[in-house]
Amino acid sequence: MNTKSELILDIKNLKVEYRTDDGVVNAVNGLDLEIEKGQTHGLVGETGAGKTTTALSVLDLIQSPPGIIVDGKIKLEGKNIRGLKDKDMESIRGNDVSMIFQDPMTSLNPVMTIEDQIAEVIEYHESGGYKEAIEKTHEMLTMVGLPPRRGKEYPHQFSGGMKQRVVIAMALACRPKLLIADEPTTALDVTIQAQVLTLMKNLKNQYGTSMLMITHDLGIVAEICDKVSVIYAGHIIEHGDLVDIFDNTRHPYTEGLFNSLPNLQDRKAKLIPIKGLMPDPTDLPTGCPFHPRCDYAMDICTKKYPEKRYRNDQHFVECHLYDSDNIKRGGVIKRG
Ligand code: SF4
Repeated sequence: MNTKSELILDIKNLKVEYRTDDGVVNAVNGLDLEIEKGQTHGLVGETGAGKTTTALSVLDLIQSPPGIIVDGKIKLEGKNIRGLKDKDMESIRGNDVSMIFQDPMTSLNPVMTIEDQIAEVIEYHESGGYKEAIEKTHEMLTMVGLPPRRGKEYPHQFSGGMKQRVVIAMALACRPKLLIADEPTTALDVTIQAQVLTLMKNLKNQYGTSMLMITHDLGIVAEICDKVSVIYAGHIIEHGDLVDIFDNTRHPYTEGLFNSLPNLQDRKAKLIPIKGLMPDPTDLPTGCPFHPRCDYAMDICTKKYPEKRYRNDQHFVECHLYDSDNIKRGGVIKRG
């Protein structure tokens, strides 16, 4: 198992609620997540599983009210960052941890030139002046494959893929230790998606930045991630490396995510979507929260939350189908 010094991010028992007029939304429910230095960690699940809330919690960006972190520890390089003063948290954002959102326009100011926006981030976090910041901005633009002269233009003069490159340049401008990318390619067409992913992979290799890649797309995970955590109803239900998750899938929900992917070898094969919807987070099912949608559900699944079972040092699953013995053998379930 990991020693703490090898971890860039260590989240333990994170619980986040949104207290609304319709009830308490249990968005994150006792989530544990460990990201090793220099690795890209995929956080995978459907919309509403708690992925973005987890990411926003790390940066203390949960809108409060109605959101509130009710429990848990969040450590960056072994140091607690939960509940820091605003001033301390501001210096962590951008400097130590940066975030890229799905829609690049969330991060770009439409009435500022691209270079002024990137330079502003650099000036805020570093001691040099404007001239130095602009020089660094031009380096960053070159790094993401944009000619520096385009720095004088405004966001509306760029395509979606180019805007996302600008956001990546901005996010990496202060060489963060951890980059959180929340569905960074979802709004882009497939060709541009591939280019942006390749760019992120190259930058990660060049700078050794650790990355949390939030996605609903297992194809992206296969492309870029070292480790994978599958999240359901605000909790990690399976975790391992790519071989564990792709070749030794154990959890029926993970299996369902694979079955709902297009099969490129057999284009006539039918997609099998996971039946039903994510549970209502104001009224989560008892026992295993996946039981209303699970083809393998047993009586115990409606009553008791399943314990972690380890297939090896890192690969675990939370599902009553497995005990400490049969988890190691071939999967109880088979891919359809
Ligand atoms: Fe399905 Fe039961 Fe496993 Fe949950 S614990 S995934 S309901 S078999």
